[in-house]
Amino acid sequence: MTKLSSPLRPGEVALVGAGPGAADLLSLAAVKLIGDCDAIVHDALVSEEVLALADSRTERIPAGKRGGRPSADQADITETLIRLARDGKRVVRLKGGDPFVFGRGGEEARALAAAGVRFRVIPGITAGVAAPAMAGIPVTDRTVNASIAFLTGHEACGKSRLDWQALAAAFPVLVFYMGARNLPRIAAALLDAGLAKGTPLAIIRNATLADEETITATLEDAAEGRVTARSPAIVVIGDVVARRTPWKD
Ligand code: SAH
Repeated sequence: MTKLSSPLRPGEVALVGAGPGAADLLSLAAVKLIGDCDAIVHDALVSEEVLALADSRTERIPAGKRGGRPSADQADITETLIRLARDGKRVVRLKGGDPFVFGRGGEEARALAAAGVRFRVIPGITAGVAAPAMAGIPVTDRTVNASIAFLTGHEACGKSRLDWQALAAAFPVLVFYMGARNLPRIAAALLDAGLAKGTPLAIIRNATLADEETITATLEDAAEGRVTARSPAIVVIGDVVARRTPWKD
């Protein structure tokens, strides 16, 4: 097998994890491929710092999906990738965090495979792990949890696919992506499911970027709207938040 970082061939696509934002958290393969490709199709959450690693001659195609704003739909994105590849371009599909964690990377991989386009996947550091680390919160702690759940907060509205009772009973630590807008609903659902009002919670916004911000509160604070979260943020719920050791100045 070719190495992850070996140069792309014409007509090849790399689904690359761009990590949470800071360019120095990119993998070596990501840095090499971003710096040596013909086109980059990137999500809105991919930071300027990461995009700045591209050659100035590289074509940049925004394909962001972000709550509320006009956005390319998924079919357009996969069509664009396939068209660029068929034109013989060396394509980097840059996605925030890890391409296969709440990023629809799987759909893109399936579409590329179905179209007969050669592709590779470069994992990235996912926000659900990086953001707590930046805040000094260990997502697992021997004294707190032997398991952890990563969830999407989108599911909290309307009919939810999440079984709150089961989640609250099974997982001592819950990490929500896309949970900012629905935070009061998420918190209320977890209180209903039996979690204690004083369960600690952290909201980490813009992790690894210059304006990173961490707020800590309780589940009750969040359910009653005493704390608000703005996107993009990771919400960590559980006693690991009380194990926090802030380490940044
Ligand atoms: N594939 C991405 C997740 C995409 S879903 C990954 O693996 O990280 C988008 C969500 O990711 C946002 O709503 C937010 O919850 C989270 N996120 C991405 N970047 C973030 C950052 N720098 N700080 C905090 N949360 C972030």
